Amino acid sequence: MKIYLFASSSCSIPKGLFVKGQPWKRVKFPILSAVIEYNGDLILLDTGIGTRMNQEFKNPKYKTNAWFHQSVMKAVFDPGRNPLIYQMQARGLDPAAVKYGILSHLHYDHAGGMRDFPNAKYFINKKEWEAATAADSHKHSYVREQYEANPKLDIELISTVPGKSYLGFPASLDLFGDGRFILVDLPGHSDGLTGVFVNLPSGRRFLFPGDSVYFPENLAGPAPKSWLMQKLVHEKPLAFETLKKLHNLKKSEPDLEIVSYHDHSIPGRYELAPVYYE
Ligand SMILES: [Zn+2]
Repeated sequence: MKIYLFASSSCSIPKGLFVKGQPWKRVKFPILSAVIEYNGDLILLDTGIGTRMNQEFKNPKYKTNAWFHQSVMKAVFDPGRNPLIYQMQARGLDPAAVKYGILSHLHYDHAGGMRDFPNAKYFINKKEWEAATAADSHKHSYVREQYEANPKLDIELISTVPGKSYLGFPASLDLFGDGRFILVDLPGHSDGLTGVFVNLPSGRRFLFPGDSVYFPENLAGPAPKSWLMQKLVHEKPLAFETLKKLHNLKKSEPDLEIVSYHDHSIPGRYELAPVYYE
C-alpha cells in the first residue's frame, strides 16, 4: 500500500477565520486528495476540485459557493493542469485504475472531481447523501451536479455499524473487511462527515478526518473555527464535540498521523506526489 497526496488547488485564508483566537493574517493552504495503491487498484480519498468547476460555478444557483471560493478562499486553480485526474496522469498513475472513491463529505471542494472518474465506485455516508440532496443543499456548500451526475455514477450509500467500536468511536465500518480502511462518523461540519483510518502493512496509521479539522492548530487546541466560519459553512455545534474527541484521540494515540485535506503545513509536514507514504 502506498499513499500519495495531491493538491488540486491552492488557497489562502486569514488564519483567524479557520482557527478561533489566531491572528487574521492570510496563510496558504491546499485542497488535498489522497490516492492509495491497494491490492493493485487505486482508491481515492476525496476528489478535490475537478475539471468542470468553472462551468459549475457559472450557474447562478451556486453564486454563494463561487463567491466563497473566489473571494474568501482566494483559490488559485488552473483547470487544464490542477484537477486530480491530470496530476495523476502527469505522475504516471493511471486514472482508469481507480476502482473506488471514499468521500469524507460532498462539499464542492471534495466532490468536485467525482465525474472525472466515472468508472469508479463511490462510497458515501447515507446521512451525507441525504444532506447533499436536500432541496436547499446549494446553500450549504454542495453542487449537486458533481454527484447527481448524468450518466449516473456508481454510488453505494454506507453507514457505520453500531457496536463495532473502534478507538473510542462507538460505531465503525471496516470497508473491505481486512482492517485497512476503517470509517467512523465525525459529524458537525456536515451531517454525514466520515473519517477514514488507513492502516498500512508497515504499521503506520493515518486518519483522514475530512473538514472536522482544518489546520493542525484546530486539533492541538482543541480550537474551533471562528464563529464567522461556522456560520459561513453552516457548521453545527456538534463539530466542536467531534474536534474534542479527535484532540483526545491524538493524545492517547500519539503515533496516529492525522492529515486534514486543508492542512496549511502541507507541503512541508507531508510532501505531495510523487513522494509517497507506506
Ligand atoms: Zn473542504
